[in-house]
Amino acid sequence: MKSDLPFSPSLTIEDTEAEFTLQARAAERPANPLVSVLLPAYNEEGNVVPMLDTLTTLLSSLGLRHELIVIDDGSRDATVARVMSVMDRLPVTLVQLSRNFGKEIALSAGIDEAKGDIAVLIDCDFQHPPDLIPSFIEQWQRGYDMVFAVRSDRNDESLMKRAVTNVFYALLNFGERNKIPENTQDFRVLDRCMLDALKRMPERNRFMKGLYNWVGFTRLGIKVRTDPRRHGTTSFNFFSLFRLAATGLTAFSNVPLRLWTFVGGVISLASIVYAIYIVIETFIFGTDAKGWPTLVVAITFLGGVQLLSVGILGEYIGRIFTEVKQRPQYFVSRITRSPQQPPGDGAQ
Ligand code: UDP
Ligand code: MG
Repeated sequence: MKSDLPFSPSLTIEDTEAEFTLQARAAERPANPLVSVLLPAYNEEGNVVPMLDTLTTLLSSLGLRHELIVIDDGSRDATVARVMSVMDRLPVTLVQLSRNFGKEIALSAGIDEAKGDIAVLIDCDFQHPPDLIPSFIEQWQRGYDMVFAVRSDRNDESLMKRAVTNVFYALLNFGERNKIPENTQDFRVLDRCMLDALKRMPERNRFMKGLYNWVGFTRLGIKVRTDPRRHGTTSFNFFSLFRLAATGLTAFSNVPLRLWTFVGGVISLASIVYAIYIVIETFIFGTDAKGWPTLVVAITFLGGVQLLSVGILGEYIGRIFTEVKQRPQYFVSRITRSPQQPPGDGAQ
């Protein structure tokens, strides 16, 4: 099947690995891999069944054994009922989380459940084009342990959102050796070695893009288009993105903490220079009651800086607090498996 997978020539590829590493990995690939497709779903009643049908048709046409794992992230609509209705004809496993935990945790639950040699992570809303999966799998067969989608542009986003994202990545990667690539998506293929590595990452504050990057292995980014959402609306608003950004920053960077050492240093230096200036000025011109505005500005500015830095400390301490509580990452209320489970190894 290696040669007959369709591969779109319009994709640009960021190649990062040495050829001999890739060849060694490619030689270890199983001949008839089991593909676990992980679909986090929150209020996706309009999308989930068409997506499951599309995926089964696609993977069956490629002769790939597959299981479809829908992680219901506490949906409040008919998502669960819709998935249940196709259980008898599609190889679906439905993992119902006990409440809405958020997409990052839903993906972790999917990774825990996946039995495949590889996992395909894809959204339910058709924003990640399923027709690109074959080319992702082809790159996995060439030896990449993770193949991920990179947005070809961010033109669909507001100028403000793009600017904030740029600042986020600049802060996140400042001085880091192992930089987290920008504009990547959760649309990926992960090899079993990555899945096992991710399962061993115990943190509660999960920023998946950071975790994929942290565990390493061979990887390849492919530029892809992003399609519009088919049904429903996005669950991510400004605040949830802000929360995710705070999780990412505090989990993968100490720059926000260290920044205040720098700011404190600069302010102290400036105040010493200013003190010297005042002394000299007093000697030359004598004293009068000048300086009131300077005083107010200095007090309010320093007050602001202190509050901000205390807030950032609090942000980190809050994260430490959730980690030390050692709570499980999520609870599953129910797992339902379709009788249509994928055939065992060796079958087509
Ligand atoms: N999702 C989820 N839990 C949530 C929010 C979203 O599992 O709390 C799923 C959602 O069903 C979809 C994917 O994550 O499959 C991406 O969500 P969405 O389309 O709302 O985000 P966007 O594409 O706008 O980033
Ligand atoms: Mg979406």
